[in-house]
Amino acid sequence: MTMRTRNTKILATLGPASSDESVIESLFLEGVDLFRLNFSHGTTDDHAARVKSIRAIEEKHNRPIGIVADLQGPKFRIGDFRGDQIALKIGQDFRFDLNEDLGDSTRVYLPHPEVVEILEAGQSILLDDGKVRVRITDKGADWLQGTVEAGTKLSNHKGFNVPGVLIPVPALTDKDKQDLKTALELGVDWIAQSFVQTADDAKEAKELIGDRAALMVKLEKPSAIEYLKDIIEVADGAMIARGDLGVEMPPEDVPSLQKQIIRHMREVGKPVVVATQMLESMITNPMPTRAEASDVANAVYDGTDAVMLSAETAAGDYPVETVKIMNRILEKVETDDTYKTIMEATQLATHDNASDAITTAAEQVARDIHAACIVNYTTSGSTALRTARRRPHIPILCLSQNMEVTRRLSVCFGVRGLHITDVNSFFETVQVAVKQAKERNMAKVGETLVLTAGVPFGQVGSTNVLRVAVVE
Ligand code: PGA
Ligand code: MN
Repeated sequence: MTMRTRNTKILATLGPASSDESVIESLFLEGVDLFRLNFSHGTTDDHAARVKSIRAIEEKHNRPIGIVADLQGPKFRIGDFRGDQIALKIGQDFRFDLNEDLGDSTRVYLPHPEVVEILEAGQSILLDDGKVRVRITDKGADWLQGTVEAGTKLSNHKGFNVPGVLIPVPALTDKDKQDLKTALELGVDWIAQSFVQTADDAKEAKELIGDRAALMVKLEKPSAIEYLKDIIEVADGAMIARGDLGVEMPPEDVPSLQKQIIRHMREVGKPVVVATQMLESMITNPMPTRAEASDVANAVYDGTDAVMLSAETAAGDYPVETVKIMNRILEKVETDDTYKTIMEATQLATHDNASDAITTAAEQVARDIHAACIVNYTTSGSTALRTARRRPHIPILCLSQNMEVTRRLSVCFGVRGLHITDVNSFFETVQVAVKQAKERNMAKVGETLVLTAGVPFGQVGSTNVLRVAVVE
């Protein structure tokens, strides 16, 4: 199958609206580069069926697809309602209690005794990404009573936040540990860890994961911002989880944080995903708002690796249309000269090691000779990460003998991964690169490729060769 022409990646969440293999395949064909399994919802069987479908599509189209398992983390959620949802009126009383019965328009189960214990009158609970706000007016041993200050509806199992209130919770809950085990058994490529607060939280996940998957930390707590550098040193990638971040912190802080985080991730050469509410209105509408189109475009102008869809593809009415629109926005920005100027103006210094110097040189050579693509032959994936960090306009073809590496790199800017087998020398790699680039529409006869590799073969971090090859 041919490769995409766009560089910025799309991560789409699967859910009830996108569980059929045919829908997942349409999402992939329209532009999804990797899929998110949200372990806050669904059963193990649901996730296993989706993984099976993704792997079947991957094989059918002969192109690696990444899978991210997103662990719920210590996220607070309310219980369910009789009739699944309720209407709310501003000014009405509403009660949260420890009673497991289904809720109604006056009360709901709050399965977190530690929250009931710590919250005081005057503090607020923000539900459903801040769409509903209830200010606590009174409390008892097993209940909190409050007044609805904002919001008109609530439905089953919605998440809630208590900004500014420190509630002692573990980084990985028992459910997370179980889900992590399930996800690793299913063979996912990335584990997304929710509500990371410190580098120790990330280390705990990293130790449990080992080298079986890569770790994507979700930045959605004020403390994750405070300890950003330390956390990122441990992690392999990050998600700017704007849903919870914009509730835990003032929403006006989020745009500049987005820019700072992307900048930092580029600096260290690890992939970053901008997430949540990107095309939110497309959950129910076939077209996005102008503000949403701008938001997606601006994430690209900020230099992100990937953008994410949540409920739009998991539970929306227009999953495939949403991906089409997102794809169009990304393609449009990438052809804008202003975008290219911004990427060049924000270019980062080369680090003082041979691999980084070679990848920088490869990109410069590719630009100077108008090469059709940059080819990185890599065992660990690190060379492709170094190239992606430069945000080149020229596509990156990443060849690796490790299927897992090519899948993981599906989140990285510009990287088109390809699993190759049976290459035993640099000469053979060049031959394979030329053949694949031609077959996959990345280069035409007469065009050039700029290749990097490490010789001798198979040693991690040994990139030391730069070669120009003409496609014949
Ligand atoms: P979630 O994470 O969808 O799992 O909450 C993303 C976010 O908070 O933005
Ligand atoms: Mn979140």
